Parts: sequence; C-alpha cells; structure tokens
Amino acid sequence: MSGAGPAFGAGPQEREPEQRPRDLGPLVDELRRIAGPEQVITQEHQLRTYESDGLLQYAVTPAAVILPGTAEEVQQIVRTCHRAGVGWVARGAGSGLSGGALPIEDGVLIALSRLRRILEVDLDDQRVLCEPGVTNVAVSQAVAPTHFYPPDPSSQIVCTIGGNVAENSGGAHCFKYGFTTNYVTGLEVVLPDGELVRLGGKEVDRPGYDLVGAFVGSEGTLGVATKVWLRVVPKPESVRTLVAFFGSTSQAGEVVSRIVSGGMVPGAIEMMDNLSIRAAEAHTGAGYPQDAGAALVVELDGAEAECEARFDQVKAICEDAGADSIRIARNEPEREVIWKARKAAFAAMGRIAPNYYVQDSVIPRTRLAEVLGRIDELADEHGLRVANVFHAGDGNLHPLVCYDGTSEGEAERAEELAGLIVKACVDAGGSITGEHGVGVDKKRYMPEMFDEPDLKAFQKLRCAFDPDQLANPGKLMPTPRLCGEVPGPYRQHPLEVAGIADRF
Ligand SMILES: Cc1cc2nc3c(=O)[nH]c(=O)nc-3n(C[C@H](O)[C@H](O)[C@H](O)COP(=O)(O)OP(=O)(O)OC[C@H]3O[C@@H](n4cnc5c(N)ncnc54)[C@H](O)[C@@H]3O)c2cc1C
Repeated sequence: MSGAGPAFGAGPQEREPEQRPRDLGPLVDELRRIAGPEQVITQEHQLRTYESDGLLQYAVTPAAVILPGTAEEVQQIVRTCHRAGVGWVARGAGSGLSGGALPIEDGVLIALSRLRRILEVDLDDQRVLCEPGVTNVAVSQAVAPTHFYPPDPSSQIVCTIGGNVAENSGGAHCFKYGFTTNYVTGLEVVLPDGELVRLGGKEVDRPGYDLVGAFVGSEGTLGVATKVWLRVVPKPESVRTLVAFFGSTSQAGEVVSRIVSGGMVPGAIEMMDNLSIRAAEAHTGAGYPQDAGAALVVELDGAEAECEARFDQVKAICEDAGADSIRIARNEPEREVIWKARKAAFAAMGRIAPNYYVQDSVIPRTRLAEVLGRIDELADEHGLRVANVFHAGDGNLHPLVCYDGTSEGEAERAEELAGLIVKACVDAGGSITGEHGVGVDKKRYMPEMFDEPDLKAFQKLRCAFDPDQLANPGKLMPTPRLCGEVPGPYRQHPLEVAGIADRF
C-alpha cells in the first residue's frame, strides 16, 4: 500500500482526522437494530481503522461504520440512509488505490467483509455465485484444480470480489484473459433507494440494457453489489514462464512489441525497471540481478504443444534482443519465485522510500519507450525517483513516485509529478486509469479525457440510479453535480450560485 504521508489533493471531503465526525443520533440506533449493536462502530479510535483505503494520503473518519451480515441487512441499511438523506460508502477490503472507499465524514461506511460466503460452484456451467466480501483468490481456490478465475490483481489475497466489480479490476493475466467485466454475468444489487434488483444472471447475454456492464467499474456510485455471478474457466493444460533481464526498459519494450506483433498472446507480459527490481529483490530475495535495467516476465499458457513451440519463439526473441540472462521456471515452485518478485513490487517500495504514490495510467503499447523516457525527465525535474512496474502487454503503467513525507514540500512535489505523469499518458493517447479507478484521487483529471457532453452522459446515468447522490458522493465526477429538476419556479441551489456544481 502507499506509504502514509501528509494528505494531499484538496477536495470537498477531506478533513483533519482530529475533527469529530457528525453524530447521526437516531439513525445509528436504527443501524444497531438492523445489524446488532456489536456490528455498528461509532467510537473514534475504532473508526480510525476505516479512515483510508490503500491510498493512505487521504483520510476521513466516518460518522459510523456498519458491518452487515446479510443482503437483507444491506438493503435495510441503505433504505434507512435514503430515508434520512444520509450518504454512504461501500467498502470491501479497503485495498483500493484511488480513494474509492474513502468514507464521508457525515455518512455511513458499509463494510462488506462479513458477506464472504461462496454460495454456489457450478463447474458444468462454469459459474460461481458469491457474496461481495469473498476474496479474489478464494474464487480460484473454490474451483481448483480444474478451473480458475482469471482476473488476478496483485492484491488478490485480500481484495474482495465486490471491490473488483466496482473497480473493474485487472491483473497480470488480463492481457490474454480480459478484465473483471469479462467475467461478471450477473449481479444482485441494492440500489441507493433501498430496492433490491437483479441485473443479468447466471446465463450470458440477457435482453435489455446491459446494466451489468454499467455497474462494473461504477466505483460504488450506483448501489451495493450483494451477490455476484462469475464466470470461471478451465485451467490451461500447460503453463511456461520465464524472466529475461535486459540493460534497459526500451530493450525489453522492443521484445514486447515483437512478441505481440508476431501474433502471440501470452497469458502475461510484465515489466519492472531497475528501481523496482532492486526494491523487490531486497524484499523477496527471488534472485533477480540488482544491476538489471529491466526484467520482463513472460508467461505462456494453453495446449502443451502450442505452448512449447511459442515458448521457444519467445526465448529466441529475448536472446535476439540482447537479453543479458534468461531464467526459465522448470516447475511450479520456480514459477512462484519468479512471480513473487513481480507481485511484491508495490509492497517492496518501503525498502527504498518512506512514502510512495501509485499511478495507474494506460498508454498505447507502441508509445512505451517514449513515455517511460518522459517519466524519467519529469522525475529528474522534480528531484524525485519513480519506479516503474507494469502490465507491459496492456500498456498499463504503474509509476511509483517515491518521496519522503517528512521532508518539507516533497509530498506536494510528488503529487505534482504524479499529475504530470497522468497528463503525459493522456497526451500519448492513453487513459488516466487502467485498473485502480478514478475514486477521489483521479477525478480532477476526468476533464483531461472527457469532454463536457461525455461527462454529462455519465452524470445522467448516475442520476438515474441515484437521484439523491447518496451512494459514494464526491467520487468519480470532477465536480459535485446535482440531479433532477426542482418543481415550481427555478431556484438556484447554493452550490450552483457558488459555481461549484451543475444541475442536470
Ligand atoms: C499492493 C496492492 C496491489 C494491487 N494490485 C492491483 C492490481 O494488480 N490490479 C488491480 O486492478 N488493482 C490492484 N490493486 C487495487 C485494489 O486491490 C483493487 O482496486 C481492488 O479491486 C479493491 O478491492 P477492495 O475489496 O479492497 O475494495 P475497496 O478498496 O474496499 O473499495 C473499492 C471500491 O469499490 C467499492 N465497493 C466495494 N465493495 C462494493 C460492493 N459490494 N458494491 C459496490 N461497490 C463496492 C467501494 O465503494 C470503492 O469505491 C492493488 C492494491 C494494492 C494495495
């Protein structure tokens, strides 16, 4: 997770944690009645546990946290908040990296960690039905050894399926297999007015609007998912993994281009630069050479004969591109060691910097060398170090901006640098986020990518689900926006008068 540091990114929701949250009084009594007194937290010191997600630079203490045990309780909670006009935020494991589960100070945090049952495993139909608090890795474990659930965030041992759905999470194997949205066939959702609806189902391609598609990636702003139907797939017959070490990221980037343009679709192609190699090696001892300019992990899977033939081709491309060394996993334990370094890269940053800030932007793969060069330039200009670890096949960069939050002005410089990196990616034809979501952290960059009519279309959808703006307010959209027409003569809302909100 991002190391703790001084909060940055001024926004309407942030507050000093020392301030007292609002007392919700009778609403809290009602919440205690719904879920039981022991499942409702209002003590300041206990609330602090929930004040941030994985992006520790933002912290807000909620007025109350509630841990429901059933979908019915979630429904009653949301309905109660709706009646009282109180905003709420859903939370899974709180591993998000965009402040998506950041609480609101005068609202309720609905923590879904108790909803962690796998309700059905149907391997004949390749489906799993689960509650939202089930961890990502538990789904693959439930269908092993014959099947697996492909979207595999590096945080998969802690992050929840509800969080994955809300963020449309990805992982190392999404280059070949696709993202969460490609694996959710149905959802049970509590809408912001407390209605319980079913979107999609076990089968694919239901008639009507694709509301499952709209809900996946909606970052908790359209309701609370209380059940999720997931597609799982058979395990490939064969898996071959190598890690090749190069003098530079541009050399390794050339290999990525040649593999992909050669028509191969590896299960994963992941790259780490020297700084992230050094951090990961210090953390894991996986045997990556500390002086390597880049490490490229390539994993092929599929039918054995094809996998072997393609693997030889990949090895030849790496050699031809001047790899300094290539390590091939001969068995599962060796494969795990190769992956250990890659998967630990974020957590390992603590080895080289007291604080770091994760960016998550996407660029066209062909612009990799150019954008990495630009990131280096920007880092030099700001006197900071940036480690790069990324899903090279998807062009999904994760620049990790290292800083020391105790050093005067460094947090601000890191924030500015991170923003310029996002802009450089958008300028290269990319996106402000690949898999971590917009949340509170990236909302200010939305206008870099979307024109006003595009943002209005998003807002209309949001208003259709949540006209009162109670579901995860203040996230995703760049400025607070209001929904609906006021009956009678038109009166401007104070936020409109102040020029900080628009009406739709
Ligand atoms: C070390 C590390 C590595 C990571 N690696 C990856 C990676 O490889 N790929 C990747 O995509 N992400 C990665 N992440 C980010 C994070 O793990 C994912 O975004 C994950 O999906 C968040 O799940 P969560 O359960 O922690 O959700 P939270 O952080 O609790 O919430 C995330 C969002 O989901 C909403 N939400 C949660 N549950 C529900 C629900 N039931 N219904 C509606 N909305 C809900 C919240 O309101 C919030 O907006 C990483 C994070 C860390 C700390």
